[in-house]
Amino acid sequence: MSKKKLSNEQIVTHLGDDYQKFHGAVVPPIYENSLFIYDTYEKFLEAMESEHTNYLYWRGTNPTVEIVEQKIASLEKGEKCKLFSSGMAAISAAILSFVKTGEHVLSISNIYGPTTNLFNYLEKFGITHTNVTSKNIEEIEAHIKTNTKLIYIESPTTMTFQIIDLPEVTALAKQKQLNTIIDNSWATPIFQNPIESGVDVVVHSASKYLSGHSDLVGGALITSEAFMERIFYNEYQLLGGIMPPYEAWLLMRGMRTLPIRMKAHQENALKVARFLENHQSVKKVNYPGLTSAPDYELGKKMLKGYSGLLSFELVSSKFEDVKKTINALEHFNIGVSWGGFESLVLSPNNGRNYEQLRQSNIDPGLIRISVGLEDEEELIADLDQALRNL
Ligand SMILES: *Cc1c(COP(=O)(O)O)cnc(C)c1O
Repeated sequence: MSKKKLSNEQIVTHLGDDYQKFHGAVVPPIYENSLFIYDTYEKFLEAMESEHTNYLYWRGTNPTVEIVEQKIASLEKGEKCKLFSSGMAAISAAILSFVKTGEHVLSISNIYGPTTNLFNYLEKFGITHTNVTSKNIEEIEAHIKTNTKLIYIESPTTMTFQIIDLPEVTALAKQKQLNTIIDNSWATPIFQNPIESGVDVVVHSASKYLSGHSDLVGGALITSEAFMERIFYNEYQLLGGIMPPYEAWLLMRGMRTLPIRMKAHQENALKVARFLENHQSVKKVNYPGLTSAPDYELGKKMLKGYSGLLSFELVSSKFEDVKKTINALEHFNIGVSWGGFESLVLSPNNGRNYEQLRQSNIDPGLIRISVGLEDEEELIADLDQALRNL
């Protein structure tokens, strides 16, 4: 691969498409084959020596999948990327690659629920976990134990949208000889490149903005060549949560428009956030793109832009009002996930979990919306009519 700096637009549209290899096909094909054959046993044995650089079997490498891996590695300014069958497969592989029995993981802020559940699950293997909700570096440092191996970060988080000062945390991690992983799904590689801030491993749910069309589930892991070689032969191949070539091809198609989609999500979300901020039924909007956001200055340092997922808190924190607002929305569909073309809404409040919400510093009146690519005036009018009757 050439070392010259490519624009994000060039990467998603052309990098790795290798027209000559694919008979000039403008869209690379889907290699839907489980194995590759060799014309001599010598060549076969040679390939077996280094499976991560040769095509042998689909649980290792696949030409279609590799094109997308090359694009994502380049967007993230990392050396290598591997794609996984889901974001959770990528997250599990990343975590397991750094910890063993008797060791401890420190996570920061309100991380994704299933990731916390994974840390709880790992207790049965003797791997312990602490979550620190404070972003204060002294408090983070105070939670590091003698057996801590790893700091796990999500920034911005995807319910309250807090931002972590990455250079500050990675400097602490290096000083204490700890590894760092970040879930960068919210910002995407278009708006944040944590490897440049010294993070060891970046993980993504490709099911969100990377694919952008709510038509696949996948994950990505980006890291150095040295770490990746170890992960490839261990967590990638042995746990086997690999991305199939058809999903990779869909992801490649979705990613062609990633830079322009992110611009559009940002524009729409900023307008929606500003509208909500001034609405009488809304107490607070959690969106790092607003100049009123507590993390605005830090966000300007860390992020090149703001995606379309945000939350707001109703003046009323009654479950009845949360439910009423969500049911009144017509252009925001009720559903999990985010990052697709379509606007979505949900609340972490299910009417029975006040104590859990309190412990996570989540306001019971919090409603999360994924601002899609629809016309922003229609979205704003919809929010207005839903909030007006509170
Ligand atoms: C959805 C999500 C994941 C998990 O990704 P899957 O592809 O659903 O496995 C991880 N982190 C964040 C922040 C997410 O929103």
